[in-house]
Formats: sequence, structure tokens, C-alpha cells
Amino acid sequence: METNTDPSLVRVRMAPAPTGKLHIGTARTTLFNYLFARKNKGVFVLRIEDTDLERSDPEFEKDIIENLRWLGIDWDEGPIADNQEQKLKVKNQKYIGNYGPYRQSKRLSIYTKYLEKLLKEGKAYYCFCPKEELEAKRQYRTSIGQPALYNGKCRSLPKATVKKSLGERKPFTIRFKNPNKKVVFKDLIRGKLEFDSALIGDFVIAKDLATPLYNFAVVIDDFEMKISHVIRGEDHISNTPKQILIQEALGFPQPKFAHLPLILGPDRAKLSKRHGVTSVSEYRKMGYLPGAMINFMAFLGWNPGTEREIFSMNSLIKEFSLERVQKGGSIFNIKRLDYLNGFYIRQKSLNKLTELCIPYLIERVLITPKPELQKAASKIEFLGISGIEFLKSFIVNETKKEIDFDFLKKTTALYQERLKKLSEISELIDFFFKDKLKYPGELLKWKNMTPKDVEISLDKSERVLSKMKPDQWNKENLEKILLKESEKLKAGDRGYLLWPLRVALTGKE
Ligand code: GLU
Repeated sequence: METNTDPSLVRVRMAPAPTGKLHIGTARTTLFNYLFARKNKGVFVLRIEDTDLERSDPEFEKDIIENLRWLGIDWDEGPIADNQEQKLKVKNQKYIGNYGPYRQSKRLSIYTKYLEKLLKEGKAYYCFCPKEELEAKRQYRTSIGQPALYNGKCRSLPKATVKKSLGERKPFTIRFKNPNKKVVFKDLIRGKLEFDSALIGDFVIAKDLATPLYNFAVVIDDFEMKISHVIRGEDHISNTPKQILIQEALGFPQPKFAHLPLILGPDRAKLSKRHGVTSVSEYRKMGYLPGAMINFMAFLGWNPGTEREIFSMNSLIKEFSLERVQKGGSIFNIKRLDYLNGFYIRQKSLNKLTELCIPYLIERVLITPKPELQKAASKIEFLGISGIEFLKSFIVNETKKEIDFDFLKKTTALYQERLKKLSEISELIDFFFKDKLKYPGELLKWKNMTPKDVEISLDKSERVLSKMKPDQWNKENLEKILLKESEKLKAGDRGYLLWPLRVALTGKE
């Protein structure tokens, strides 16, 4: 098999753990890796870190993959839907190797090989200390204000003791023999960073020979997959010295590291569920468009250094650089996302926008596809709106009236300028699909109108409108006539006529 041997080739990876839906922070980090790879004509690898079998779920992997695709982020190497590893492919005139499998759960024998190597060379050791004993010691050390380090009890067990314990099938973990030294590395974003590894102690790298922990597996995979740059969230900085020590013990070259700033909520605490929705699929469901999400995420820690606000993926690739990534945390400002989404909604053709809005109207049971089309409609879900183009006629649920796509287009058109997210559409145009509107009578009053004034106003509207002939019934005429009449009813304040009329027709302010 042809593999890349060019050491200057940029190879980056995104390594999500499928223990939850695609988080906005993971998506941001993926985007930065992707932009960096594309900008440098390198290779972008997607690796699924599913060694935590208890918490990993194929459903989450599916969510991650689907939503990355929806965002328009693709990868050169990685797992594909049918669980086969992606075939060798030619890109940018360079051969991209196949370094799979790209799911850690399929790579266990590779980790075993390296664990055995470290054990054999005395750079790692079996630890037979019972969990309870470790926990008690940890609690004691913490209580006297000491770091909760392992005391090294099993560090130099005689070979015969180890053999005996293994023979007796005593439970064990594998610990890394920490050389207790200064670890220094240059982070591409944060500059020179120094750690005293003595403060880490002999840390566990595997639960057994086939169950590596994150810090170990990641080092093996980054090496085996020839990763040149590790670009990830700042929350991994404290893992980096551990990973460097393992790299050194195995004689691996050190990749370049770049730790991206955290994403913070408006209160400057790390973004979490507490701040609201955090998964990409939930934003998608609310009706945010991928272009807006990409633009929004690109600015979470990076800026172009100009006033420009809107970027296509291609222009982001052109402009992106790690030099322009900031050190400080980046605040998640939903208003900016709404603003960007409004922009992308306005850019859509009316046809496309209407198609995008239909699932929301169906979800709110305002309309239903005609029975013969319902089978197709059942395939419609927010995470795959395809199939919608076959749906061109609908039944209004309340009135059972039939309507077509053109009708929906007209109603959608009224709000294209104002929509911030697609899900708002049903709330805005529901009155077109309702027979009886429910709203508080008070809403009919403009300023200090009395109920009597409202009656007079609505009577007036009715009289004026019923006098109009069907061929006069268009926007221009209606506007002309109603504005004229509103001046007659109350000079200088059109609200006396127009407000009650609008509320009566829409049930809204
Ligand atoms: N699986 C790790 C995570 O999801 C990957 C971290 C890394 O990029 O090394 O946070």
C-alpha cells in the first residue's frame, strides 16, 4: 500500500469521543483542524475515540458524523457509514495513506503491542494496588493538602511477584513510570509551556493490556497516523505533558501542539448545558443554517483581523491561520449567531427557504402532506430534510383546505426579511392555517381605545373592505384604501384603524 512519506505534509486529526452528541465546542475545534488542513493542502483525519465502552454509543457517532457533514466539513481519512475503512485516495497530487482502522475500539491489538513494549523495557509497570486502598490514600493526601499522587508501591516489584500476581489473575492496571522531569513544549498559540512532571506521579495508562486509557491511545494513534499537528481545546493542555512523556518513552517524534481557547458562556464560565443548548443537532433543529453556524464558530477564538464578517468556507480556508487564534476564552454570543442566520436566510431563494420551513409547519401540525404523499413525508425529519421537494401539496389541518407550495411560498415570503431562525416561521404564519384565532380581547386595543372604539374601527374596516371588488383585491389597492380610511378615522394616527384590523386577522401584535 502506498503511504505518505513526506514529513512536511500537514496531517491533522479530529478525535471526538462518541459519548454525546456533537458539541458546539467539538465542532469548532473540528472546523479549525479542517481549515488548517485545507489551507496547508494537508490531510484531515477523523478518528473516533470510543475506548470508553461504557459511555460510547454508536448513535452518538452517527450524530457526530451526520452533523459534521451537514456543516460541510469533510475528511480525507476516517470511518465511513458501512464500517469499512475509507479506501486509499489521491488528493492534491499526494497519496494519502490508509492508517485505519479509524475507530479506537478496532485498534486494540496495536495498543497491546506498545503496552507490552513499555512493560518489557521497564518504562511501565503492573500495579496491583486494590482500588479501595488507592482511594483511601488519595483521600488522606488530599486531606493534608498534598497532591493525590500514587505512592509508587508497585513501581519496583520483583519480577517473580509480578509473575505470581498475574498467574493468580489479580486485577491490575498499567502505570507509566514517570521520569519526574521538566517537560517543556512550544504551543503554537500559547508559546512556551513548562510542566514539572513530578507533580503528576506514575499515572495509569491502561486498565489492562487491551484497555488503554485516553492519554496512551491518543499518543499511539497520533504516531501511527503520522499526525503532524495536534490542534485541540485548551482543556487538554494538562494532558499534553503526559502524552509527551509517553512519546519520549516510545521514541516517537513530537507533533506540534496548538491548544484552542475555551468557549465561554456570557458569564465567562466554560460553556455548558447550563447556558442552554450545546449540541449542533439542536441548533440545526431550531433552524440555524450551516453557513451561519460555520461563520459563527470560525469566530470563536479566531478573527480575520479585518472588519469582514461573512465568509464562505473557501474564503475561511484562504484566510485562516493559527497565528490569528487568540489565547483568551471566546464568548458565545447567541445574538451574533441569530444575526448571521438572518443573513443566510435572506440569501436563500424563496423556493429553498419555503422547503426548509415546511418541516416546521408540519411539526406544529398546521399542515399535513396530502395522504398519498404521507409516506414520503414520514421520511422527513429535521436531520435530513431531503424528500421535501416531492411534497408540493398539503392539507391545512384545521380547515381541511388544500393548499399548494405556491401558497406556502407567499406566506414565507412575508417573513424572509425578518426570520432569525427557521423554527420561528410557524409562530409567525400560523394564522394563515387557523380558522379561529385565540388571543386576548385586550390585544385589539390601540393605545387607549375603549371596546366601543374597537367595534367602530372593525366595523369601518369591514365596510371598506367588503366594498372592494375581487379584481381590486391586491396589496397596492388595499394599502391605498386602508391608509386613506385610517386618516379619516383619526388623523395622524393610523393605528386606530390598522391595529385592530391586523390583530383580528392575525391574532398578533
Ligand atoms: N477524545 C478526545 C476528546 O474528545 C480527543 C482529544 C484530543 O484531541 O487529543 O476530547
